[in-house]
Amino acid sequence: MVIVMKKGAKDSDIQAVVAHIHKNGNEADVSSGPNRTVIGVIGDTLKFELSEFLMDPMVDKAYRITVPYKLASRSYKRDDTVVMVGNVPVGNGSFTVIAGPCAIESRDQMMAAAIAVKKSGANILRGGAFKPRTSPYSFQGMGVEGLKLLKEAGELTGLPVVSELMSTADYDVVAEHVDLIQIGARNMQNFSLLKCVGRGDKPVLLKRGMSATLEELLVAAEYIMAEGNRNVILCERGIRTFEKYMRNTLDLNVVTAIKEMSHLPILIDPSHASGRRNMVIPMARASAAIKADGVMVEVHANPDEALCDGGQSLYPEHFEELMQSVRVVHEAVRDL
Ligand code: PEP
Ligand code: MN
Repeated sequence: MVIVMKKGAKDSDIQAVVAHIHKNGNEADVSSGPNRTVIGVIGDTLKFELSEFLMDPMVDKAYRITVPYKLASRSYKRDDTVVMVGNVPVGNGSFTVIAGPCAIESRDQMMAAAIAVKKSGANILRGGAFKPRTSPYSFQGMGVEGLKLLKEAGELTGLPVVSELMSTADYDVVAEHVDLIQIGARNMQNFSLLKCVGRGDKPVLLKRGMSATLEELLVAAEYIMAEGNRNVILCERGIRTFEKYMRNTLDLNVVTAIKEMSHLPILIDPSHASGRRNMVIPMARASAAIKADGVMVEVHANPDEALCDGGQSLYPEHFEELMQSVRVVHEAVRDL
């Protein structure tokens, strides 16, 4: 349930509404914008009638949110959420590019990729230290040693860094080394992991599960937000369909749909969506054309030797081309 206060409502008016919500054992979520204050009622809202709030002369509107993702919904929050990743805003109308290797493999490899993506204008640096591999015999990532190298590469280039968290047990060490915590597609419905990052204060990059509906994606975001962490960035990374030519099928509809359903920023990962290097640049351009908030792409100085996802990783010169072309498309559609 959402209560919208009238313009000019004083703090005491807001507190009176909050007290009424608390009296019935519910939580109140107050967000004050420049023009209006919106109060969300958290918990069992069936205890309340809308009229209880509407008879307050300082209440403008009261309505129920019928979707299961309440805090994440556009009806709860009208304005786009801008998530700060270090000093980089995501969701403010700019096109954010996250780039770097699939996995951190060594100091030389990590630094080479970091310097290359920085040179071409990436905004955030990626690198996997805990890797969710389909086979237990594949390279599993460097773990904490990898996180240290990623942090060092971030400091060297001045870029904020993102890495995946796979287990609640690793939360503290991952949070200590990164600016943005990634929850991978395979863990999108790992509810204890979602609650764990929800209790923390690091922004979260939540990837869509490979067969998750958009409602399931947003309810997963809700798990994080309901614990207190409102800094969630969504990421479409392709879904499983009957098509086998690509690794996954990139569902570009998501961007328009998510913008209707939610106020959270949405990125596209064309690397995992296609699994094919030659498709990454065209799909990144398409992402800019449909006004996604940015992309996350895999870049490796020597993809042929990559321990993970080399076939979809861009060479630095490809990444330079990607940056130039997404810039052109972003500028072209900006005011449309
Ligand atoms: C990744 O970004 O490295 C990754 C493993 O992606 P996903 O969870 O989307 O498969
Ligand atoms: Mn990968």
